[in-house]
Parts: sequence; C-alpha cells; structure tokens
Amino acid sequence: MSDRMKAVRVTGLTDPLDHREDDAASGALRLKPMLELAEVPRPKRVSKTDVLVRVLCVGMDGTDREIVSEQYGVPPLGEHSLILGHESLGVVMEADAATGLKPGDAVTALVRRPCGQPDCVNCRNGKPDFCETGAYVERGIKGMHGFLSEYYVEDARYLVKVSSSMLTLGVLAEPQSIVEKVWDEVQRIQQRLIWQPKTAVVLGSGPLGLLAALTCRTLGLDTYVWSKSPADSAAADIVRACGAHYKQASGASSTEAAMFGHRATVGDERQSEESEKPISPLDAFLKGHGKRADLILECTGYSPLAFDAMTALGPNGVLALLGVTPGNRREKVSVDRINHELVLENKCVLGSVNASRKDFETGLYRLGRMESLFPGVLDRLLTDRLTMEQVAQLDFSGIGVKAVVDVIPQSEWTRLAAASEGEVAYSFSV
Ligand SMILES: [Zn+2]
Ligand SMILES: [Zn+2]
Repeated sequence: MSDRMKAVRVTGLTDPLDHREDDAASGALRLKPMLELAEVPRPKRVSKTDVLVRVLCVGMDGTDREIVSEQYGVPPLGEHSLILGHESLGVVMEADAATGLKPGDAVTALVRRPCGQPDCVNCRNGKPDFCETGAYVERGIKGMHGFLSEYYVEDARYLVKVSSSMLTLGVLAEPQSIVEKVWDEVQRIQQRLIWQPKTAVVLGSGPLGLLAALTCRTLGLDTYVWSKSPADSAAADIVRACGAHYKQASGASSTEAAMFGHRATVGDERQSEESEKPISPLDAFLKGHGKRADLILECTGYSPLAFDAMTALGPNGVLALLGVTPGNRREKVSVDRINHELVLENKCVLGSVNASRKDFETGLYRLGRMESLFPGVLDRLLTDRLTMEQVAQLDFSGIGVKAVVDVIPQSEWTRLAAASEGEVAYSFSV
C-alpha cells in the first residue's frame, strides 16, 4: 500500500497559531480559500485503539460550503489547509480485535472531539456535543482534518458500525444524528407535562430540513414544511412523498424581505412601533389552517424566522433552533409579545448543535425506518454524486438537494464491505 493518498482539502486558511498580524493586516494578507485535490501522506495507526478506515463516500453540506466560501474552517495547528468532509461512510481495513471492529466492517465517524480542559464537565464525561469552553475539535471543520480522503485513522470509540443493509444510506448518519439529538432533547423537556404532539412544522427544505420532516413523519406527526424553495422543486417533491405538506413561503418575490413578510429593520425610521405587523406569515398560515404547532424545527439559518416561530408556536410547544447564522443581521422584533406568549403558554425555545454516539446509532435506526416507510425517498435526497476529481470544481450553488462524493464507486462498496452477520446492536431507545 502506498504511503501517499488522495485528499480534497481547502487551502488558504489561517493557521490558528498565526497571531502575528493584526486584524487589518491579516485581512489584507488573507488568501481566498480554494478547494484542491492533493496527494498527502497516508495516516498511520499509532495506538492499539486506532482503526484504519478506507473511505467509500463523504456527504457535503452547508458547513462545507461555508468553509470554502467564508473561511469558516480552522486547519490543524501549524497548517494552512484542511482536509474537508465530516459526513463519512467507510470500511475498516485494520483494527485490533479488542476494539470490537474488524476488517470489512462498514463504519461512520463522530465529528466532535472533547476540548480536554479539566473544567469542562461535559467533555470530561463523554458529552463533547455539550462542550462549554468552545475549545473542542471537529474533524473536517475545526482543528482536525476531515474524511474526504482515501483513508483516515480514528480511535475506535468515535466509530459507529453501519449494518450492510444500511450501506447506501450510512453517509446520512451524521446529518440525521443532528435531528436525533434534538428529538431526544425535546422528549426530555416535554416530560414536564402531558404532551400529545400532533403537528410539527419544519422551517427550511435543505437536507437537514428534509431529514427533520421525514423524522416527524416516522413519528406519525402531521408535518408542514415551510420553505422558500419553489413548490415544484425536488425538495418539495420529497416532502410530499413522505406525506408531509409543503408550503412555499410567500413566493412572489425572490427578495428575503418580501419572502418572509415586510419587516421594520433597524434604522428604518418610517417604521414606527405601532406599524409592526401583528402576525407573521408563518403564524397566519398555521392559524388559517386551524393548526397548532406542537413542535417547530428551525433549519433555515435565517434568524428572523426563528423569532416568527416563537409566536407561531402553539401552547406548551417546543421550538428547536438548528440553523447557524454567522452574519450580523439586526431587526426590530415584538419583544413584549414574544415574552408574553412564551410565559403565558409555557413555550420552550432551545438551541442544539452536534450529536453524540447514541444519536448516530439512533439515526441509523431511524434512517432504516424511513426507508421501510417511504422506500426510495432518502435516495432522492442524494441528488449529486461526484468523484474526488469533480469535487475540486464543485459549484455549491448548483447542488440539487445534497451532494455526496464517492471516493470509491458505489458499485464496489458491497465487495469491500463484509456482509454483517445479523443486525448491528445499537444502544438507543426511541
Ligand atoms: Zn469541552
Ligand atoms: Zn453535516
């Protein structure tokens, strides 16, 4: 086996150790991040718990787009480039028997690693997805190379087995783990009352929004997806295929303001407090349909919608915020009304990021449920299949729903992955 391998990396990132230039100067010196296919040293196992994995497929999402377009990624210490990819599917090549893994096992990998700081009680207790210091490391995102290469080495404790029946969908385990974490949190929170959820609203129809909608449908919830994508888009078709309802937000105009209703922005003196709209388009839509949202999952990353959702949410409901908004948008919001309703209607708003091993395992189980309830729908999510050579030229704006990179052609996966005897034992409760 050669000691070199192919990898797709983002170059032109700032070395986290490089604090020499002041902000203004570093802005001027900054290179534009670029995607490139490179030859890099193949990683080697150094400890008994290390596992060598051959990569089959890597999924791309909005985080990857931001790393490429906005210098969101952080390379490992002392480097200026980052191997991309945090959504992975691979096959074990080398592992000690004591790890519980053997060559031929299909695996996916967790993304976040603990911060290692002694005062971070969650990292110390194996819950780095609740890290309090922010000094955590994430493969393919922050401080550690990702999986978009021919091989990677990872400690066995961060690998999750994928059964052979789930081989083609295993690459969705990471995005689904985000949904599982939040659903687990919602269930714990709602133990505060007698909760009988009927209606769920998902904001956004990107890959995460679609997985959230599919999850709500497997839970038997009447599900509405509210999104700016056209009603005849591939995403809207997927929504309808799983029995959820699709509503294109406004739709007449392509501008954000028109799309989500007219708003008073800070500095717009013509808008007095009295003229603030009494009801958001989302609220009006739900009320117009006689619906009470028991659960709202915000997956757009358009922050004004998160505040609209606080008032659109029904009594005793939970609003979960999953979209990241690195911008600096400011807006007037009806703070009295929002506060009033949150208090008088026992509403709960939570933010959620990343996921634990249990969430990956539950996610794989749930993806299997989706596949049996709505056969073929998940495959329609994976609209763009690329090779490593193609990904360096990837135009993220041209992706249908979701892009995956086949590091090895799909036709060869079953030859490389040993058929797992029996089902993989997962450690979850649903
Ligand atoms: Zn921590
Ligand atoms: Zn992801």
